[in-house]
Amino acid sequence: MKCEECDGTNDDGDRYCSECGAYLAVEPGPAHKDLLQLSQTDLLTTVASGLPLIWENASSLWEEAAEMSRIGARRGSCILQTFAEEEAAKALILLDAIRCPVSFTERRSHLVKQIDQHIGKGVYLRYYGTSPGDMAEVKRIVDSVRQGFYREGEYGEFILPNQIKAGRESLLYVSYIRNDDGTRAWIPPRDPFEFEIHSHSATIRVVEALRSAGIFEVDALRVFRDYWQEIPFVDVANDVLATASEALISWPKLTELNFGMLKELDKRGLLPQTVTTEYQDILIRELLFPLYPFDLSITKNFRNQPPPESPYDWC
Ligand SMILES: [Zn+2]
Repeated sequence: MKCEECDGTNDDGDRYCSECGAYLAVEPGPAHKDLLQLSQTDLLTTVASGLPLIWENASSLWEEAAEMSRIGARRGSCILQTFAEEEAAKALILLDAIRCPVSFTERRSHLVKQIDQHIGKGVYLRYYGTSPGDMAEVKRIVDSVRQGFYREGEYGEFILPNQIKAGRESLLYVSYIRNDDGTRAWIPPRDPFEFEIHSHSATIRVVEALRSAGIFEVDALRVFRDYWQEIPFVDVANDVLATASEALISWPKLTELNFGMLKELDKRGLLPQTVTTEYQDILIRELLFPLYPFDLSITKNFRNQPPPESPYDWC
């Protein structure tokens, strides 16, 4: 890197200039940028070293949420639960980036970027609560949750900002809002009675099952990568490859592929004896289609909103 004082060139990682001795300040950047600098091999080992920490954090937040929920309805338990799920979603994002074929460079960059984004992680945790039949359905789910605005109410009479963002804010903070009649008001966070602990969070469950199947170990992660990179998933609506048979993978086919992944690990002696049939079943049935083909960022769709279904003619 270049020294600001004397323009001298220094090696990456040097703290002081070899020419003038000035301190070489390094501007901190978002984590995803550094991850994207890595080679395929380094990305694999780096992800493998991060996944156990991410899981440990997600599962302990989840445990604490469950502990708190035992003393009654507490908003705190729901807040912790959301944080736990977001952290688990980070693991799923990294694993989908590993599954992404090497040639899809741009798609992978976009996906890795989501580890710093509430919306991207929110898309994952909502997506993992669904059971899509194919990639067309996956796209519908993703597009619906990433909308910048959406309609709610019996007749769609309310326009609300992005549901992931609004849901997260209303869990944590008091908000100042403008109603559609022009009035403004402070609204408190949602009541704790809405926050019953979910005994089943698919995000947590799938990440736990992946860990139990040994996939966070670098050798198994390499098998996982090589297996999935052979099966490209594409956005069926936009992609010219959409007519390729790979693009038409249905849910039953996906369960076969998931089973194939376990067989591949087993064949190489990388499937731990401790992986229960319950965990295997979760992986076969609940490890969903990867999301790397899709844009996960928020859309600016305000002008495209249709009017409410029922205008207020009767009043
Ligand atoms: Zn210098």
